[in-house]
Amino acid sequence: MTARQRRKPAYQLVRCAALLGATFVTVKPLPARQRVEVQTSDSAIVALAAFVAGAAERVSHVWPGFWSEQEGFILADPGKWVVLYTTVPAPPGFAVSSSHVGTTRKLPGQVYVLGGEWADLAASRGGVDIEFVLGLDTVTAIPIRDSASATLSLLYHEAFHGYQRRRFVASQRPLEAFGGAVISTPEYEAAAEVERRILLATLHEEDRQTVAHLLRAYLAVRRRRTQSLPVEVQVVERHLERMEGSAEFVGHRMRIVALNEQAEQLVHILERRLTDSLRAPNVANKAHWRHRYRIYGTGATIALWLDRWNPTWEQALERGRDFEELLSEAVDFRAFEADSLAEEAMRDFGFEELVRHFRDWARRPAPAPLPAELAERPIPPIEPRPTLHSAVSPRFTTPNAS
Ligand SMILES: [Zn+2]
Repeated sequence: MTARQRRKPAYQLVRCAALLGATFVTVKPLPARQRVEVQTSDSAIVALAAFVAGAAERVSHVWPGFWSEQEGFILADPGKWVVLYTTVPAPPGFAVSSSHVGTTRKLPGQVYVLGGEWADLAASRGGVDIEFVLGLDTVTAIPIRDSASATLSLLYHEAFHGYQRRRFVASQRPLEAFGGAVISTPEYEAAAEVERRILLATLHEEDRQTVAHLLRAYLAVRRRRTQSLPVEVQVVERHLERMEGSAEFVGHRMRIVALNEQAEQLVHILERRLTDSLRAPNVANKAHWRHRYRIYGTGATIALWLDRWNPTWEQALERGRDFEELLSEAVDFRAFEADSLAEEAMRDFGFEELVRHFRDWARRPAPAPLPAELAERPIPPIEPRPTLHSAVSPRFTTPNAS
């Protein structure tokens, strides 16, 4: 170990673990109050809906202008119950619920319940409706998850996409696909993995200067990875990061505020998102899905640092700026330092070893392709997992295998 490396103990710890291929994420046990299970009964879902309505004022501080007591939404237990909160009269078939869990104030809306499915509502069949038109109201509709916290994260995330449609200056509309060939080289995969490791390392650091240094290194490696890509691939990455990274950040932050969880819970969630996002079976074998899906965690982690360091980043993002630009400004990233920063970070975070790893994978016989319906199924926008992975090395597979 060199003297330079010894000056950064926590950074170094992460690096060593990274080189061993472990996930090195120690996630603290969740406090008991976060394990509120949503029971499969209308009353539990009604209670959760009333709780969300009652938490509106609290969560409205997370993103200026997003969410209020007027915000309508639907929580569906597919095939069993559709629970609606709205300020306008409910459609025929819905029964008024008298539940006022979670607030003592009179809300402007009302919770309603419908048994069974509701035709045309994707959420009642397990999907998500970002902007479901309901008479005079437009609501976000989601299927419930296996816990209250996961359900809330999903609801706020998807509702934020509706807000983006209304309020964000649109980025250039890219095709939502990464070209498999350009992003499947061992060097590209290795650089992307180095970037993920650097962002993960920032979550373990407390010293602002160290974090800023890591983030400059992140930007330098990213620049090196992306600069030779066709411009449309760069546009896709920036667009997805702007939309999904902010929705991911907002979804988890609002659920933390709603449930009165500890603020640092967000760091643990982001650790999991940065680590788990490449493990889903329908992601691991597909380069374009893998690179799409990693953006949820990387974008939300960048959002965390912008939120701490730039008091007006939300407005800037709404007006059309992207995470890479805003982060570059926040950490004073200078182009003339980029090469030396990138080389240092690639050395410290195991770039060469990763390149060898991905080359080895590329030489192996292609794995059996996933069944088409699994391979092409859209990945759920967010899926916080109740079980945590540990010591799992990334299952990167043969580029262009499919
Ligand atoms: Zn999303």
